Amino acid sequence: MLLISCPWCGEREETEFHYGGQAFVAYPADPESLSDEEWAQYVFFRDNPKGDFAERWVHSAGCRRWFNTVRNTVTSEFQS
Ligand SMILES: [Zn+2]
Repeated sequence: MLLISCPWCGEREETEFHYGGQAFVAYPADPESLSDEEWAQYVFFRDNPKGDFAERWVHSAGCRRWFNTVRNTVTSEFQS
């Protein structure tokens, strides 16, 4: 069983969590000026690296809080 460390609750089983996608994706500074292609990049395209990746997770079956963490996409090992 994979353990994920919640910043507020400590280590819990992964079944208590839900994945929320890539962390630190900035909202466009000037949304009015974006082309359709640039909007598509913002909405649909995310990095897909092999190795360390900053992600959003929510402790949905616990404190229900969101947090950022770094997970290795090869080993699924979490760092914090
Ligand atoms: Zn928690």
